[in-house]
Amino acid sequence: MSQRVDSWSSVLTEDDMYYLRENLEVEYDLGPADPQGQRVYAAQSNMIDCLVPAWKTDEVESYVQSFAERHGLKIKLRWRKLEGGVAYVGRGGGTIVLNRGCNSGQWIPVVEGEHILSLVLHELAHVLTPYRLRKSERYDPRELQPHGPEFVRCYIDLLAEHIDTSKVVAAFEYLGVEIGPECEYLPGGRPRCS
Ligand SMILES: [Zn+2]
Repeated sequence: MSQRVDSWSSVLTEDDMYYLRENLEVEYDLGPADPQGQRVYAAQSNMIDCLVPAWKTDEVESYVQSFAERHGLKIKLRWRKLEGGVAYVGRGGGTIVLNRGCNSGQWIPVVEGEHILSLVLHELAHVLTPYRLRKSERYDPRELQPHGPEFVRCYIDLLAEHIDTSKVVAAFEYLGVEIGPECEYLPGGRPRCS
């Protein structure tokens, strides 16, 4: 096997690495049930949030609706007063909960009525992840690590529709986050994973 060259070393700046590393402990550590969670949050707060645009409330609503149609899933968007976002995954889709006032990243303020795209895509990746797995596992998201390799692959794929993800992948790799294999989503069929 050839020696693998760490992709992050040529993509991340010294500053990128510093912030990813130094801010890691600020993030929630959800323990052994979610061993990658803290590192995924750190990559999101210190890298991804800085790369994505902020969208207006109505743009988020129409995006979630078209996303659900595209994937053949039923996805409800609920607006509640909370910090960050939450996803509830169920058979055939799920519900994502965001704050109508605004959803900002940890270090990125957004104005009233705007929502940083990473939070929206993060919650949608939670909903979509079980539908990218083998059929036998597909409907039991409780068996998955919340921010496991499958989630991370799905999140990167969703981000790649909007931004260049080379720094995103580099940040995950720098923090030792495991990224799942390429996996095609096939509604009603069997996902093809390499
Ligand atoms: Zn999450």
